Amino acid sequence: MMIRIGKENLQSEFVKLVERISGEKLANCYQCGNCTGGCPVSYAMDYGPQEIIRLLQLGQEETVKNANSMWICVGCLQCYQRCPKSVSAANILEALRLLTLRKGEDHDNIKDLPFQFLKEAPQQAIICGFRKLVA
Ligand code: SF4
Ligand code: SF4
Repeated sequence: MMIRIGKENLQSEFVKLVERISGEKLANCYQCGNCTGGCPVSYAMDYGPQEIIRLLQLGQEETVKNANSMWICVGCLQCYQRCPKSVSAANILEALRLLTLRKGEDHDNIKDLPFQFLKEAPQQAIICGFRKLVA
């Protein structure tokens, strides 16, 4: 059975926000899967970038919000590089992160990070992680 993208889904407030922040049009994605195919960390995601976009097209807001995908993305832009429709899944995942962080919902709590990790991890990794995972 063919699943159609409902107009009401594309116009939900959440999807509108994701589109506005990311600058991407979700309907431009035709689900070829190139983004997920090239993503170096999709194996660790609950849903790869292609699936995240499809879930958003279908208005599955809660599933997207609860997936770890936005936090796993390393922002390498491989997905954008490979997309024949010039859709940046990286921008979409970044928009999802921003929407969560702007509500004050940190993904990581700094005080919970193990001391040994803070001692040994490269400073760039720590700063980069804080910028991405903490409001
Ligand atoms: S590569 Fe582009 S068109 Fe293909 S699934 Fe990913 S975002 Fe959609
Ligand atoms: S930017 Fe994120 S989603 Fe895109 S290929 Fe890199 S890790 Fe995967």
